[in-house]
Amino acid sequence: MVLVSNKELLEKANQEGYAVGAFNMNNMEIMQAIVEGAVEEDAPVIVAATKGAIKYAGIDYIAKLVHTAASKVDIPMSLHLDHGPDFETVMKCIRAGFTSVMIDGSFLPFEENVALTKKVVEVAHTVGVPVEAELGRLVGVEDEISVTEREAFFTDPKEAQKFVEETNCDFLAVSIGNAHGIYKGEPKLDFDRLKEIDEVVHIPLVLHGASGIPDDDIRRATRLGINKINIDTELRLAFRDAVREVVCKSDVYDPRKILGPARDAMKEVVKTKIRLFGSSKKA
Ligand SMILES: [Zn+2]
Repeated sequence: MVLVSNKELLEKANQEGYAVGAFNMNNMEIMQAIVEGAVEEDAPVIVAATKGAIKYAGIDYIAKLVHTAASKVDIPMSLHLDHGPDFETVMKCIRAGFTSVMIDGSFLPFEENVALTKKVVEVAHTVGVPVEAELGRLVGVEDEISVTEREAFFTDPKEAQKFVEETNCDFLAVSIGNAHGIYKGEPKLDFDRLKEIDEVVHIPLVLHGASGIPDDDIRRATRLGINKINIDTELRLAFRDAVREVVCKSDVYDPRKILGPARDAMKEVVKTKIRLFGSSKKA
């Protein structure tokens, strides 16, 4: 199947009330784990690459790997730029065959975030590529700040409504207590805020930093308008643990015997998440 865009994937998810997993990839084994896991669950899936992944693997390698994988399977898949930092990176990705992009202007003042997002949306839409934007900042879990300080970065529902109207973005990533990386203690999502955002913003919402959020909270979030959930850290941990298991307990030096078990472990993470997000059998 050819790659589809997040527009098709997320509008169906929005109508039917589930979330599509967006899994980050940097190399062939991770990509195969994502695609094989999605095929076994008969689920739609988003393969996500950041600017860092592109720098590491090369944009053509990323694009060719994902297009090759898609051509061999029957599930709907997209190739998405995760946290696009600027206009130039977004354009390079569209040109390389990415079917969905994110522009992350969340670190900018509101009006500047609007201006940057709007510019990206105007150009991306002319070539049929949908755009995810972010409003409200995700604070790193390692940042030592108080709860009140943290809440100052949360997405404001009124601002979100204005932001979506002004930018015409297709999906919105929200900050409701989620964070990138490994959580210290149990994360607390602000569900009242999510509900308020969902009531005024009529596009699919996105949850970043979902690794480590309890399963019940993930299910609740998908009922409140979250239709795309990003998973990166849990894949990394599965990869690290599997590689360590092999390397520390044997003299194996064949890369296939080191990376093969890591691929299997990541595939299990992908399948577990897909079932949790409710997107099994939704291909
Ligand atoms: Zn993110």
